[in-house]
Amino acid sequence: MTVPNIKGFLPLSMLDWPEKVSAVIFLGGCSFRCPACHNHKLVLSPESYPDQPLGRVIGYLRDRVKWIDGVTITGGEPTCHEGLPDLVSRFKELGLQVKLDTNGANPSMLETLIKGELIDAVSMDIKAPLETTLYSKLAGVSINLSRIKRSVELLKTSGITTFFRTTVIPGLIEEDELRRIREQLGDVPRYSIQRFRNLDTLDPLFRKIPDLDLERFDFLQGKFEQPQFSATQFSMN
Ligand code: SF4
Repeated sequence: MTVPNIKGFLPLSMLDWPEKVSAVIFLGGCSFRCPACHNHKLVLSPESYPDQPLGRVIGYLRDRVKWIDGVTITGGEPTCHEGLPDLVSRFKELGLQVKLDTNGANPSMLETLIKGELIDAVSMDIKAPLETTLYSKLAGVSINLSRIKRSVELLKTSGITTFFRTTVIPGLIEEDELRRIREQLGDVPRYSIQRFRNLDTLDPLFRKIPDLDLERFDFLQGKFEQPQFSATQFSMN
């Protein structure tokens, strides 16, 4: 299986994995076209980013194994790549933990990674209430909702540390939508929200949506996050 090309490498981050220090690997491409996406160049034209030589990345990580907890693999959408398990294995062989950022659209890949004991944590974006029309609108493509639900159930039952997270978008994802999401997710140990930013979104129309008022955001955090911690600690793919 071909190991996916690495399109970006951040040697050290304290923001991408709560309470861990991780290196961050960016893979190109995505099955969604979220209008709010800030990484759209990586999604739409990954070839415009030079490949980072895997050997060099591995060498760098090997030299710093003592100083970092693990590797966060993000994108784009990493699960689009069939060779993802092979790439993850290379990091696990170094003794590093691995966190995967995903949109949840590929539960089969998630299952493979979980069964193979290749991942230690997952961040899954919940774009909208689990309702086909609204979810498709926020994902920018027609969604097979059963796949998203299967990923949610897989993560809830796997015992893997999972961070579910939603972006609050004024006029689209607000208090009522968050309430429905929390009801649909059921009892999950970690759920956070983050503020929509109108900078350089995939859909230019989304650049006209006003940023969410900070006071309002604090209120929504207090009402919906589980447990209570700051979602601004996360970065978002
Ligand atoms: S926000 Fe995430 S899931 Fe949506 S298009 Fe961008 S990379 Fe893909």
